[in-house]
Amino acid sequence: MPISVDSTHLTRSLAELVATNSINPSLVPEADGEAAIADVTARHMREAGLQVERYEPKPGRPSLIGRLVGTGQGPTLMLNAHYDTVGVEGMQAPFNPIIENDRLYGRGSYDMKGSLAACIEATRAIAMSEQALAGDVLIAAVADEEYASIGTADLLVRRERGELDFDAAIVTEPTSLALCVAHRGFTWLEIETQGLAAHGSRYHIGVDANIRMGRVLRELEALLSDLQARPGHPLLGPPSLHASMIEGGVGISTYSPSCKLKIERRTVPPESQKTIENEIVNLLDSLQDDDPNFEATWKTSFHRDPFETLPDAPIARCVSTAAAGVLGKQPDVIGDSAWMDSALTSEAGVDTVVIGPHGQGAHAAVEWVDITSCVQLAEILAHAAIDFCNQGVDRQIA
Ligand SMILES: [Zn+2]
Repeated sequence: MPISVDSTHLTRSLAELVATNSINPSLVPEADGEAAIADVTARHMREAGLQVERYEPKPGRPSLIGRLVGTGQGPTLMLNAHYDTVGVEGMQAPFNPIIENDRLYGRGSYDMKGSLAACIEATRAIAMSEQALAGDVLIAAVADEEYASIGTADLLVRRERGELDFDAAIVTEPTSLALCVAHRGFTWLEIETQGLAAHGSRYHIGVDANIRMGRVLRELEALLSDLQARPGHPLLGPPSLHASMIEGGVGISTYSPSCKLKIERRTVPPESQKTIENEIVNLLDSLQDDDPNFEATWKTSFHRDPFETLPDAPIARCVSTAAAGVLGKQPDVIGDSAWMDSALTSEAGVDTVVIGPHGQGAHAAVEWVDITSCVQLAEILAHAAIDFCNQGVDRQIA
């Protein structure tokens, strides 16, 4: 039986997922979290023929693995979709899924419950087709991508410990059905300049930490020009930085004793945390060489690697072939600006690509997903999974 994705069934489960509040409580205090959506998702997974495992590294923040079991003779593929959403401020009816002109509206429809519904529908279609499947297909429906990615991170720890196994991943964040093989990373840094507090009239004692931070800002602007002049990554362009927040001083008649600056440095492969930290060390060292009295401390407060698929990764070939078959043309190959869970899976040594539906309004007051693109995504995922999970298997014998 050929692969047949049921668009009505997909739309119905998508509507139910959107109607279920799953706002991330780390972003919005007192929000519901992922408990209710885990129950709804688990039911849909079981109806699709999957075995469901539930993981809850933090109370109220469950993730699910739905498993379509193969014969055990092929590699295992993970389809990854986060089911937490951001808040709903400014939205008219966030949990009331409305369909208009092939668009389904509601919080999380585009980011990324449309993807989750497509993953479930893809496995259901494989199960119904009675196609031979050597390796397992897993759906990871994960918590907390919008904040700290505890869901995917926990699954990777379990893989490291040998409790879970998967050889490649498709992260299904929306890409308008383009094949995304790279995205940017970021590093958050804090710099603090030290001065000496004194009465505003006591110029011979006071040292102004805010004016000292001016030197840092001037050097950062020069560094930014240098970064932007680089050719950068072929799909992602040059790296960048911005001085996001600054705070210094205690009163208008007091020499400022300290000034704190928060910087976000957006990275492209192959830049690492070390690359960024070396830049800052060099910058502050040169300021100290110019003025031995200059004092500043720094630290990295958060880091996320950029992501890039190895060009010869089998999963990239499987998805590309499947997408060409469904779309009738080779998919666009793109890099994306935003960070995704693909960086985590890739860093753990799991070959990863990103492909997802079309839509608009992630984190915005009006959010919708294009239903036809969800159906096409389900078809692409099903064909790619069959291809990937049957690698190395002689189909004549199987
Ligand atoms: Zn997302």
